Amino acid sequence: MKIAIMGAMPEEIAPLLEKVERYEKVEYAKNSYYLAQYRDMELVIAYSKIGKVFAALTAATMIEKFGAQQLLFSGVAGAINPDLKIGDLIVATKLCQHDLDITAFGHPYGYVPEGSVFVESDVHLRKIARRVAKEKGIVLKEGIIATGDQFVADPVRKAWIMEEFGADALEMEGASVAVVCDALEVPFFILRSISDSADMDAGFDFDTFLESSAKVSADFIMTMLDEIDGDRDQ
Ligand code: SAH
Repeated sequence: MKIAIMGAMPEEIAPLLEKVERYEKVEYAKNSYYLAQYRDMELVIAYSKIGKVFAALTAATMIEKFGAQQLLFSGVAGAINPDLKIGDLIVATKLCQHDLDITAFGHPYGYVPEGSVFVESDVHLRKIARRVAKEKGIVLKEGIIATGDQFVADPVRKAWIMEEFGADALEMEGASVAVVCDALEVPFFILRSISDSADMDAGFDFDTFLESSAKVSADFIMTMLDEIDGDRDQ
């Protein structure tokens, strides 16, 4: 089984590389991919750089060039749902692109013909995550994640995204990874730990909590890997 683990920024994959200890670094398409063996699994780990385009390129590369059969995303996000506090974990049930807009032609926000507003993540991987959370006593929220090429630090934009998409959290990569994995029929899982609340203080909070929240997410992903490995042995 070959599993891709992806982040957007170096801070999001650093705790993963630390945990796997030994890896081979491969350069491709102006990015670095880290190949490692963990238990009985082969891993390909990378950070994409920020935003939907880089994230789509990296996800497609991990699948098409490196042969990943499942993709797990680990990173940080801005909270929309007031129940989500800094450091809390949220798993995406489904994802949408909040900045995709051809409403001038009568389409809903987030929709283009032959696409769909929401892409659903893999049910089985979510089930494994729930099991891990229960075993470890970790609170894991599930909800909708909205993605766009904007760092949201604006209560008005945040409220609009909540109303339009019912989103619980927002970030800049998840939905593009979802579109790629869905098209290539690769099960995917998007996990985020909250770094800020997408309001006026978001920039400051993000800088303060990026590293600690990224680690919360990465640690959970590593625990999930143990479970995925065990799951396969059964
Ligand atoms: N400080 C960085 C930029 C960070 S952009 C720099 O200067 O290079 C924010 C990153 O964290 C993105 O990868 C996004 O997915 C996530 N994120 C966290 N909070 C966010 C928010 N409020 N709005 C959008 N993305 C957010």
